[in-house]
Amino acid sequence: MSSSGALPLLIILFFFGLAGGIVGRIKGSGFWVWFLISFCVPFIGLLTAVLYRYDREELRRECPRCHRVVMLHDAVCMHCGTELEFPEVAISPSARVLARHDG
Ligand SMILES: [Zn+2]
Repeated sequence: MSSSGALPLLIILFFFGLAGGIVGRIKGSGFWVWFLISFCVPFIGLLTAVLYRYDREELRRECPRCHRVVMLHDAVCMHCGTELEFPEVAISPSARVLARHDG
């Protein structure tokens, strides 16, 4: 039985992973994460890595007071100092959230 059948596929997957990893690294997201994603799901993974840039650009919000664009994770506006409520997602700084409820 020839064992060379899977080799071309692995080479193709490797280059998909390499391309996805490079794209992911350019976006500042980490090479190996996107390498693995693009390697396992070649077309979708690479496509996701390319489109990931646009998701990253949307991680901003407009300050309700001075209407300047600030980063989503900022708690205080960098321009006017207004406290910003986190939309939708609430992050608790307390570690007690991790306590389990047995009830
Ligand atoms: Zn502001």
